[in-house]
Amino acid sequence: MSQLTYTKRARPGQASPDLLVFPGQPGWDEARRAWNLAVDQRPAAVAMPETVDDVVAAVDHARAVGLRVAVQGTGHGAGSTSLDGTLLINTARLTGVEVDVEARTARVAAGAIWRDVVDAAVEHGLTALHGSAPDVGVVGYSLGGGIGWLARKHGLSSSSVLAAEVVTADGDVVRADDETNPELFWALRGGGGSFGVVTEVEIALYPVSEAFAGWLIWPEARATEVLGRWAEWTKDAPEEVTSVGRLLQMPPIPEIPEPLRGRQLVVVEAAFTGDERAGRELLRPLLDLEPEIDTFAAVPARDLTELHQDPPGPVPGRGEGWMLDAFDGDVARAIVEAAGMDGTSPLLSVEIRHLEGALGRPDPNGGALSHLDAPYAMYSVGIAMGPDAVAAIDARLAAVRGATEPWLARRRYFNFAERDVDPVSFYAQGDYGRLTAIRDEVDPHGLFQAKHTIV
Ligand SMILES: Cc1cc2nc3c(=O)[nH]c(=O)nc-3n(C[C@H](O)[C@H](O)[C@H](O)COP(=O)(O)OP(=O)(O)OC[C@H]3O[C@@H](n4cnc5c(N)ncnc54)[C@H](O)[C@@H]3O)c2cc1C
Repeated sequence: MSQLTYTKRARPGQASPDLLVFPGQPGWDEARRAWNLAVDQRPAAVAMPETVDDVVAAVDHARAVGLRVAVQGTGHGAGSTSLDGTLLINTARLTGVEVDVEARTARVAAGAIWRDVVDAAVEHGLTALHGSAPDVGVVGYSLGGGIGWLARKHGLSSSSVLAAEVVTADGDVVRADDETNPELFWALRGGGGSFGVVTEVEIALYPVSEAFAGWLIWPEARATEVLGRWAEWTKDAPEEVTSVGRLLQMPPIPEIPEPLRGRQLVVVEAAFTGDERAGRELLRPLLDLEPEIDTFAAVPARDLTELHQDPPGPVPGRGEGWMLDAFDGDVARAIVEAAGMDGTSPLLSVEIRHLEGALGRPDPNGGALSHLDAPYAMYSVGIAMGPDAVAAIDARLAAVRGATEPWLARRRYFNFAERDVDPVSFYAQGDYGRLTAIRDEVDPHGLFQAKHTIV
């Protein structure tokens, strides 16, 4: 890679006075807390930057005192890497979203979450390639790919990143786009946070103001039949529909509405960007199975951020994901049996996401992770209230994964892989070597410790 082109050199001495928080100081526990409450992360210090100059000061400080640097926006992806000897830069205070309606783009600061972007975009009839939870960070999500409700039509979120501003290991501020530092730009889109602190991204927005979306719900006893039919249905589904087949054990808590509270269910969730009449017709083979509940309706685009019904705030989650080369009635049976979602399983949710469409097409301009070559991705999760629960969840995750062994894809998906994963498995042949070469160039001393660090 050629020398990096600098946007600007940082101005030393411009850091906010309370930038760094150390163990034992007021605010320490709040500063180090991740969204995932199961992760008790203990970095050497936490930086809470409010400006790009603060980020530069934090990186310079870490280098000067011999700490590595890790970055988090929300901590949804926390726990996949150790923070020992690390300065954690928490970008939550770097907020701001600026929509360019004409260009259909948004400039998004590192601490923004998807809800911020969607709220700013929908009033202009636009939306973004967000995922299933509105409080996931735009930057962390997009650095690792990003499969959302418009993904089969518009691809991974990482491929809709148009530019990024990055603070490098040397404390310089650089822009990365197609023309400026194109190799770094390629690496950032799917290569994760190994290349610097991203302080801002520019992303594409899409003119979607409404969708036909919802859930079809049956009792878990019908899981194999329903998931088998859904598998068949996905084979001819148009790219305008993105769908998920899912086993759920609803907790017996007051927040869950009465007809679902404490029950075991099989669910098909989908979002279709056509009209209601075409959507109903499309669902026919699934409606023929007479779901107990059908919530499908024409909804404003904003509602898609809540469609998956992810937890509204931090929880202790323990999950794992992998991809499948095939999904049919046999795979469904294997998963249903292994997951054992009859009220005794430690898992809360076992989901299978249909990929293909734009997600499956290589895009030479799409970045390091331009497509996923498997047709389905799985993610399973339980609520980890203490070490016994963690052990039970891990054992069940291993059982579900073991049951899918004959159909396991060779490649893994960056954002859904949480532990024990070789990052080489995220990329097409040869691309990991290109990523390590770029990392050696921009961070030769390995300052940055990322989720799935490129080494
Ligand atoms: C409830 C929930 C729902 C999810 N839904 C989806 C989904 O629908 N689709 C999907 O694809 N994934 C989904 N994910 C996975 C999610 O995309 C990843 O966990 C992602 O890493 C979260 O990004 P974050 O910024 O919120 O988390 P963080 O933990 O803050 O960041 C994750 C990693 O990103 C890097 N990073 C973050 N910010 C920066 C920065 N400014 N500069 C450099 N590196 C940075 C770091 O390496 C960091 O460790 C979900 C996860 C959860 C917990």
